[in-house]
Amino acid sequence: MRAPTDLTCGVCGETAEAVTHLAECFECDRWFHLNPYSNQPGKDCGDAVIGPTDGIETTCNDCIEAAERRRVAALGPDRAKAEGLAGTVLGGQVPLPPARPGQAPTEGRRTFRRVDDE
Ligand SMILES: [Zn+2]
Ligand SMILES: [Zn+2]
Repeated sequence: MRAPTDLTCGVCGETAEAVTHLAECFECDRWFHLNPYSNQPGKDCGDAVIGPTDGIETTCNDCIEAAERRRVAALGPDRAKAEGLAGTVLGGQVPLPPARPGQAPTEGRRTFRRVDDE
């Protein structure tokens, strides 16, 4: 397993308490905060999902946001907005929930967490 050269998070620039609190971004190869415990509070500067081949893909928030921007750019802002309203009955009558980083559409993917204290 690879280890970071230091414990600095590539997203927020803060230093992690331990190497176990960092993960390497699948896209940009930077290390970032990823809380390894689903049952303990911790800082997350990205997310981990089980990829198409069941490999674990860890992605930092910067890359998640970049992917979301690419998706919106590909659809066009109007289309992206329309998709966001598609779930409402009348469309446009219900305020959208605030965008949540890490909640980008990942159809067919599940959020993955290691639980090391079993
Ligand atoms: Zn961080
Ligand atoms: Zn990244």
